[in-house]
Amino acid sequence: MILFKKSRELQDRLSGELNFKKKIGFVPTMGALHAGHISLVEASKNENDITVCSIFINPAQFNDPKDYEKYPVTLEKDIYQLETAGCDILFLPTVNEIYPGGMIAKKFELGRLDQMLEGKFRPGHFQGVCLVMERLLDLVNPDNLYMGQKDYQQCLVIKKLLEPTLSHDKIRITVCPTLREPDGLAMSSRNLRLNEEDRKAAPAIYNVLQYIKNSFKPGNLSSLRSEAVKKLETAGFRVDYAEIADANDLSPITDWDGRQKGVALIAAFLHDIRLIDNLTLN
Ligand code: AMP
Repeated sequence: MILFKKSRELQDRLSGELNFKKKIGFVPTMGALHAGHISLVEASKNENDITVCSIFINPAQFNDPKDYEKYPVTLEKDIYQLETAGCDILFLPTVNEIYPGGMIAKKFELGRLDQMLEGKFRPGHFQGVCLVMERLLDLVNPDNLYMGQKDYQQCLVIKKLLEPTLSHDKIRITVCPTLREPDGLAMSSRNLRLNEEDRKAAPAIYNVLQYIKNSFKPGNLSSLRSEAVKKLETAGFRVDYAEIADANDLSPITDWDGRQKGVALIAAFLHDIRLIDNLTLN
């Protein structure tokens, strides 16, 4: 694996003669890698000639500065895992390298996606995600982009980001399934910050998602929603949302007609650690 810290060097390498007509797969991450991240690298390796992974903790997407400061960093372990997985290139830029002129806010048109669920509870988050993704995609110029279903709304946001720009129309997005711990907890870098007691409580999110899936029946869903919130609160969570939504555009489903494709999405805190997860319902 080759490690690049400079954008220029990464670009020179990727656009060099050596790589003419080679397919490039890209896995953007914020590090503290786990098996979920590595599954994206493996998916990329199966379908491309060159797999590029980036590790960059993007300050522009943190609405809570404390969350940014405390974001886990496990660089040596990350490099080891990527090398073992056969990743070809690791891009490890500094903030200056990504935002040479500073983090200049730009308005990305994301429609309602920017105002609901994560957009509502983390104002500015998706704008920051788009800012970094636009920059990274320009540098890497991949054929294929690999993202995790774990961040369901983020996948829809990036699909929207890539919709209008002709320069990006060749990028294909693959959404990979969420990898979980044996007790059902979705793997996440933030799990490293859970204390012992909270780690034990955390799988309740997945249990509640399964409860929603098993109880998902045609008709009004408001009591199912409030039941889900109650179960999470009983397990010790402070709930941002427990939503049942249209799988394509995330608009809330009030009355299910038995056909519309649905997804259940949860965001909830254990102390100051915010966890998110989701499950498709049908
Ligand atoms: P992050 O480092 O949290 O920004 O995540 C980088 C990529 O890994 C994103 O596309 C995530 O959706 C994906 N990812 C995170 N957790 C998981 C997981 N448990 N299973 C599969 N993919 C994941």
